[in-house]
Amino acid sequence: MNTLPQRDKNVLWHPFTQMQTAPLPIPIVRGEGTVLYDADGREYLDMIASWWVNLHGHAHPHIARRVSEQLLTLEHVIFAGFTHEPAVRLAERLLAVLPAGQAKIFYSDNGSTAVEVALKMAFQYWHNGGKPRRKVIALEGAYHGDTFGAMAVSGRSAFTEPFMPFLFDVEYLPLPVAGQEEAVLKRADELFTDDVAAFIFEPLVQGAGGMVMYEPDVLDKLIQLARRNNTLIIADEVMVGFGRTGKLFASDYLTQKPDLMCLSKGLTGGTMALGVTSCTQAIYDAFLSDSPYKTLFHGHSYTANPLACTAGLASLDLTLSNDTTANLERIASQHAGFAKRLGTFGNVENIRQRGTLLAFDLKSSGETSYFNTIRDQAYNFLLDRGVLMRPLGNVLYFMPPYCTTNTQLQYAYRQVEELLYAMK
Ligand SMILES: *Cc1c(COP(=O)(O)O)cnc(C)c1O
Repeated sequence: MNTLPQRDKNVLWHPFTQMQTAPLPIPIVRGEGTVLYDADGREYLDMIASWWVNLHGHAHPHIARRVSEQLLTLEHVIFAGFTHEPAVRLAERLLAVLPAGQAKIFYSDNGSTAVEVALKMAFQYWHNGGKPRRKVIALEGAYHGDTFGAMAVSGRSAFTEPFMPFLFDVEYLPLPVAGQEEAVLKRADELFTDDVAAFIFEPLVQGAGGMVMYEPDVLDKLIQLARRNNTLIIADEVMVGFGRTGKLFASDYLTQKPDLMCLSKGLTGGTMALGVTSCTQAIYDAFLSDSPYKTLFHGHSYTANPLACTAGLASLDLTLSNDTTANLERIASQHAGFAKRLGTFGNVENIRQRGTLLAFDLKSSGETSYFNTIRDQAYNFLLDRGVLMRPLGNVLYFMPPYCTTNTQLQYAYRQVEELLYAMK
């Protein structure tokens, strides 16, 4: 009999998956709130928000209703020379809540393209001004996406190895984690020269790099050093945006506001692919000219897709509601309680939390990397118990949808405790 997973194997190639050794994928037929249901009726608690995109639970009725209404009205239209209500309304509403200084919205399709657009805006900003700058400063271990520009500004690793000759040069600052602040600031003082076009970072939490966290205070100081030479500041909030860190944007913890911001993932509540690059008026103005050569020549076929923009609007309704504000606090306090329990385990270290994001390292005797087998053991152990978590190497983390109940959280915490006992 040809089951769905077997048919999948015949024709599909999955992301970040070694197809030779990967087990057959689990067929999911339905989602509701934090729960995913497979074809056999088994339930999985989605503790990683389906790769960090889902904010309000699966198949949310409000988002579903709004998108299906839009689908019967206008599904798509070219976004050069034409416009539509969902694109304009979403831009208006985003600019009203984004950190001070953000003045214009440019749409694309995902987080990587949002980063590509920010980089192109930054380079061309200097080009259009007649004083081109080529240098970019990023943080070691950063992850900004999988397209070439986004890969270039990400940390170098096994993931980027095959493409090394094709990636433009970037200078890296070590991550200013606790205890390293002074050393990093000293290095930044040397690196932030007057030929640096842009400084790009994931504010407060490096996601794919292992959920590594650092403080707003030192980031403010880094930005100040970069600003001595008017270097453009790019905040990649693709993961941390829309409440994840406890505030609407991680940049809301900063006194120094970015010049460019990248948004995606939670932007549509995890419903549809959409990317946003926002920028200041000064950056936008640098492209205004009687000459066509100063145009930002960038766009995608599905730019500002009305369905995706509508999903963004519906998700924003929910994100800005009192219910969500209460949920963010509730989940953060549940996490804090569990963090205390975790502290009693000898095989856990570096427990860290920012808002609804809780992470810790599993201590292992062997090599600790993304390819550590501890990862597979933990993944399978938890999946067997109906909890979907996807450790980054030896880093386990919780990034639940905001609708996750305390009962669901406590169930997931208990399974992690069982894992820690089993590992002893
Ligand atoms: C996921 C991610 C990206 C890339 O987004 P995609 O939609 O997967 O292309 C970029 N930056 C950060 C910080 C991310 O977490």
